[in-house]
Amino acid sequence: MTSPAFFTFDNSYARDLAGFYVRWQPTPAPRPALICLNRPLAEELGADPAALAGPDGLAVLAGNTVPCGAEPLAQAYAGHQFGGFSPQLGDGRALLLGEVIDRHGRRRDIAFKGSGRTPFSRNGDGMCALGPALREYLIGEAMSALGIPTTRALAVVASGGVVRRERPLPGAVLTRVAASHVRVGTFEYFAAHHGPEAVKRLADYVIARHYPELAGHPAPYLALLEGAVERQAHLVARWLGVGFIHGVMNTDNMTLSGETIDYGPCAFMEAYDPAAVFSSIDHHGRYAYGNQPAIAQWNLARLAETLLPLIDADSDRAVEQASAAVSAFSERFEAHHLKIMRAKLGLDDTGRPEDDRALAEDFLALLHARQRDFTNAFRALHDLAVGVAETERHLHDADDAAFAAWHERWRQRQPRRGSELLAAMARANPWVIPRNHRVEEALAAAVESGDLGPFERLLDVLQRPFTTRIEDAAYTEPAPAEVTAAYRTFCGT
Ligand code: AMP
Ligand code: MG
Repeated sequence: MTSPAFFTFDNSYARDLAGFYVRWQPTPAPRPALICLNRPLAEELGADPAALAGPDGLAVLAGNTVPCGAEPLAQAYAGHQFGGFSPQLGDGRALLLGEVIDRHGRRRDIAFKGSGRTPFSRNGDGMCALGPALREYLIGEAMSALGIPTTRALAVVASGGVVRRERPLPGAVLTRVAASHVRVGTFEYFAAHHGPEAVKRLADYVIARHYPELAGHPAPYLALLEGAVERQAHLVARWLGVGFIHGVMNTDNMTLSGETIDYGPCAFMEAYDPAAVFSSIDHHGRYAYGNQPAIAQWNLARLAETLLPLIDADSDRAVEQASAAVSAFSERFEAHHLKIMRAKLGLDDTGRPEDDRALAEDFLALLHARQRDFTNAFRALHDLAVGVAETERHLHDADDAAFAAWHERWRQRQPRRGSELLAAMARANPWVIPRNHRVEEALAAAVESGDLGPFERLLDVLQRPFTTRIEDAAYTEPAPAEVTAAYRTFCGT
């Protein structure tokens, strides 16, 4: 059956990587209804938002009509989950519909989540519940507005079907847009099952798609590893800068593009605490806030292992070079993190790195000891720098000598901040982040009462995270401490 061309597809994964996927069709949704459509993103992709919002568009976004030019497929991948290797994961409830070249010339995947069972579903039902689909939409948009590389949602459609979890829930299809869906786990799958030739095909594909500057490089696979290390170091530093906790940094949830992917059990930290963790299954804090750099590096070591035979025919030399590349993560991360912390503190880059690092660490230690909200404290510091004192209560109580001493050090380090530095400080310190209780409240209203008002309002606020709007002040308030203490997030829901 033909349908109007909603997207102009150009499917490089289907074309270049035969054997890396299974062609598969989405399962039709019984009674689809459009819940939300990302109109600016649709336009960016060269699609007509009005057409997507109409009945034919709905049929496409529900998986009921495969649009012209799409070549739906389920991708194969493996992954280390909580440290243990699962050789066979893959798109168990997702399908890549195809790729488009967007208005900026960037190649982007358009994929479904929740479009039914595939050959990779194992015991899963291939479905996605409405709440988690809306959560992914909301957090992806928030991250994007915070300037953090991320996959984004194009649409959420209620399928009209019921998804059985702990209780019956409304089902949904999420349409996700990504720079690509190639994961560390994709490399692991082909290394484990098909050997170096297959890994080389995948690596060549990833280089062409994500690291085109490496074309003709004398050591392209080592350079690919170094490139992935650099992007992840930058990404995780940015996460830390806004208090983001991914929650399930398994290797199948780490992209080669350097985008954040899979907003399952993620959460935003409130009171500063490097051990903050919210995932219901992360009992040992493997994916805690402050552990994320170490885990990213651990995941990159798994990527490195798959590339060893391509890096050097001599296995000792390959290990030596790959280890050096993975070890460089720490230094790369520290450099990005320092840059972000300097921006957050309103410092230029003329100070001694070790002094500025100490200044930042001592500030964080003060927040930790005083259980101060990370986001609000940094914003209050920005307010202090611009001469606004009303929010100082977010930093300390009256007569806090330790804080006063730190404040004096901070002031001495940069007695006058020019307007550029202040602007950079404002951009590094969001006024509003997705507060966990606000997210839950918005999802509950949508799922329990079919009321999308709170979701739409929150989405609107999160799309301008750096803008102070007094009428939105309630969105900057942390959850009551007892709510945060009891807050748990869930994967694969
Ligand atoms: P995730 O926790 O969403 O990153 O998924 C990990 C793996 O489990 C992937 O291979 C998913 O495709 C698969 N998976 C998660 N939920 C389902 C489901 N409801 N049905 C089938 N596969 C699933
Ligand atoms: Mg995943």
